Amino acid sequence: MTGPEQDYCVVHIGLDDIDLYQFGCTTHAATYLIHELSKLLHIHLLDYLNLVRLNPSIPWKTRGNGAVAIRIAIPCRYIDNIAELTQRIIDDYYAKLCKHLGIDIAEPHVNPGIVIALNPLPPIYGHIYTKALTDVVLPEVVLDKLMKNSNTLLVERYRGRGIVGAAAAIGWVLHFSDYTYELITYRSKYRYLEPRCVDESSVYLFNDTTRYTFNNIDIETNRILVTPHGFDPVLYGVRGDDVFELIKALEMIKVCEPISAWTIFRSNQGTDAHIVERSVNELRSYRTARLRLRILGKPIVIPKGHVIVRAGDSTGVIDLVFFKPSKLDTVAKKLQIGDEVVVHGHAKPWAHEVCFHVEKIIVVKQTRTYICKPPRCPLCGCRLTKKGFGKGYKCLCCGRSFMNIELECHIDYRENLKKLFMPPPSEQKHLIKPLNRYGREHKEHLPLKEIPLDTVTKIVEPLLFL
Ligand SMILES: [Zn+2]
Repeated sequence: MTGPEQDYCVVHIGLDDIDLYQFGCTTHAATYLIHELSKLLHIHLLDYLNLVRLNPSIPWKTRGNGAVAIRIAIPCRYIDNIAELTQRIIDDYYAKLCKHLGIDIAEPHVNPGIVIALNPLPPIYGHIYTKALTDVVLPEVVLDKLMKNSNTLLVERYRGRGIVGAAAAIGWVLHFSDYTYELITYRSKYRYLEPRCVDESSVYLFNDTTRYTFNNIDIETNRILVTPHGFDPVLYGVRGDDVFELIKALEMIKVCEPISAWTIFRSNQGTDAHIVERSVNELRSYRTARLRLRILGKPIVIPKGHVIVRAGDSTGVIDLVFFKPSKLDTVAKKLQIGDEVVVHGHAKPWAHEVCFHVEKIIVVKQTRTYICKPPRCPLCGCRLTKKGFGKGYKCLCCGRSFMNIELECHIDYRENLKKLFMPPPSEQKHLIKPLNRYGREHKEHLPLKEIPLDTVTKIVEPLLFL
């Protein structure tokens, strides 16, 4: 990109784990960062901020396991300063947040990660994204790879575990995969400890009048799903496929507390991006997968109502676990030996073995089952009785015995299960593609091109934002 006076260079800034105990939020820090950068440099924003969700099964993940990437063009002569500038702005972010909350942040930041990559993006970023989304990644390994990469700038103070998410968020763009958007609004810093004040009926109205939004409400439990419950600065977030519909939330959703800022993110949320084809012998703890399996055992209901079903493919056998809150236990109980299913989910360690936690199930083939009973006595017409294994049948009316007799069987017309079953919206993790997005997938990423900053993010009340 060239300007009249100066050349521009494309820079990708990845951030993860930029929060402070249960306060703060990486998306909030990213919003602060982009506005501060735009005050210091003449920047061109090349994409909505990217909110990239990573492997949801990792036990040591941050809440929601979401990292952020910012993609901008800056005057090339500032390339040597961009790492230092970013560090200074994030230092400020922490300092202000700590001061406001009255927390002394003497202890070093262990986990936050910042990674800066220059165009052309090295393919290694794409690999880190895939691995961090579907598997387990060691921060030391990522750090080592990034330090050897000449197109990467690291920030001295922020190279904790968060560098995995930061690098992965940058790499998402190399995958040209399906995406959605989320509009996130932020609270006043004076209200972090107060309950959120959002008018529920206006959320219902927003839900009813928008076509391409999802998971605003859990119809079954009548709960609104747009507000989080922690002390983080998010007031509400609405997700969907159409930016212009999401923007309407700012007017339609009625709030009784100030919105200090808002940002629109492009995201891999709601796309099933974490699901990769695997076979049973490829499963390891915390790997995500789609498996095609044959049911090998009868469903077993364990305490708390969870259901376990043994299944397998040509490479091995695994226990599928269906948790009661997912409501998938209902279909699990109806499975029969011989049925064929496709399951989405992830492997988890369980009593020295690995089991598979199911988050979606598609029954692709139902085995035909029969219900059989002994025939009637050919002599007197009474129903015969089984004498015992291998001993034939006896008529209790006339006393005759019969061997090798043909049973009376009819097909057991089971309920048709051949469809997709998924948990209610309140139980769906960020990455799960909701039902109303099927058929609505974006086939490819948009090329990076300039978007006016004030259409992507706005600080409405600077004094309340941070
Ligand atoms: Zn008889």
